[in-house]
Amino acid sequence: MAREQFQVIADYLAIPEDERDRLLYPKRAIAVACPIHRDDGKTSVFMGFRVQHHLTLGPTKGGTRFAPSVDIGEVAALAVWMSWKCALAGLPYGGAKGGVRVDPRSLSLRELEGLSRRYMQEMIPFVGPQTDVMAPDMGTNEQVMAWFMDTYSMYQGQTVTEIVTGKPVASGGTEGRREATGRGIAFLVGRATERLQMNPMGATAVVQGFGNVGSVAAASLARMGVKIVGVSDHTACYIDPKGLDVAALERHAAERGVLAGFSTELLADPSELLVQPCDIAVPAAVERVIDADIATRLRCRILAEGANGPTTPDADRVLNQRRGEVFVIPDILCNAGGVIVSYFEWVQDLQHFFWDEAEVLNRLNHVLDRAFTRVMARAGRDDVPHRTAAMAIGVEKVRNAKQVRGLFP
Ligand code: NAD
Repeated sequence: MAREQFQVIADYLAIPEDERDRLLYPKRAIAVACPIHRDDGKTSVFMGFRVQHHLTLGPTKGGTRFAPSVDIGEVAALAVWMSWKCALAGLPYGGAKGGVRVDPRSLSLRELEGLSRRYMQEMIPFVGPQTDVMAPDMGTNEQVMAWFMDTYSMYQGQTVTEIVTGKPVASGGTEGRREATGRGIAFLVGRATERLQMNPMGATAVVQGFGNVGSVAAASLARMGVKIVGVSDHTACYIDPKGLDVAALERHAAERGVLAGFSTELLADPSELLVQPCDIAVPAAVERVIDADIATRLRCRILAEGANGPTTPDADRVLNQRRGEVFVIPDILCNAGGVIVSYFEWVQDLQHFFWDEAEVLNRLNHVLDRAFTRVMARAGRDDVPHRTAAMAIGVEKVRNAKQVRGLFP
């Protein structure tokens, strides 16, 4: 998907064939074996990966995913998307991504700590505050980032908070990071409703995924007056056209870790969630959930892509035909709030000077607003889909930087 999308952009920007590989190929791809002691005394080995896409604009930056699907291809695609996302937002980073092929739910807390520390330890030769800065993604959280930071710091003999972002505030994290991606989605939905002259008050939304991104997006949209009529996670899907109680769903998920068990009456078929009639659909779980068939059946006015890569290239072709009906906020814009506040966290850690939540949010909204305005202007000027416009701005920035720096002989 990442390759195919890049070819579309490269054709649109008329990038010569011989320049394309230089822009697309990851600079570094690392695979490591991570052995850990299990609770039963045995040893298990998990494969870990990290891809650093380009080093042209500064250190690389990107999340770490703990999931059974993780492999080098998935991580490479996510690293490439991170590059365009950082460049679109104007951050001084190349893209990176990493992960461990594991179902974190199959580990005890002690085993999870062991694996987190081992993964970071294996990565120490390849990362650093000026080389590659990690962050959370699917299956990892603030606690895992604290273990990463502690492991790296013990190796250095001093506390190095700026080695990872998305840490707890108690250990050098920033106010507002945990909520940043979800809040950013809601902010951009707000900007889209303004453009479409819709009133968010009383508009309806469905949200797929109820983890860090989905739950905060649902709560933030609800605070704007949006009625949440459907939510799902990997265990359950609930639909209620009258509106779901988001605060109660959040409490349930906080207690149980999953949505299952919240209600029996409201249970629905998960494959129906995204195609519900609604104003706003937010895929905020995993990749490739919108294929050409679902794209044809979408009945939302705004598609806010919280997840990375939720829409396949086939689906994109359908959505390009339906441009007047479905307003797409593409992933590299829609979920950029996370990396933007990660950047703020890194800056605060480097300066040992911390901002309050209002300042973080204010700056987040400013950066998102600037990126949204640029994407809309570009899409309007060249009559291209929002995804093409957003990716083109990112690709162009990296390309220009590579051109002026030149190619080391
Ligand atoms: P998370 O692990 O906190 O939550 C993932 C959620 O998706 C869980 O509720 C899980 O049950 C659900 N899920 C998994 N498979 C599903 C399925 N088939 N159907 C419905 N729900 C399913 O992860 P997250 O951090 O919220 O990340 C979600 C997405 O957002 C990922 O694509 C991630 O790459 C992207 N993203 C995250 C951040 C961030 O700051 N955390 C930033 C940018 C993008």
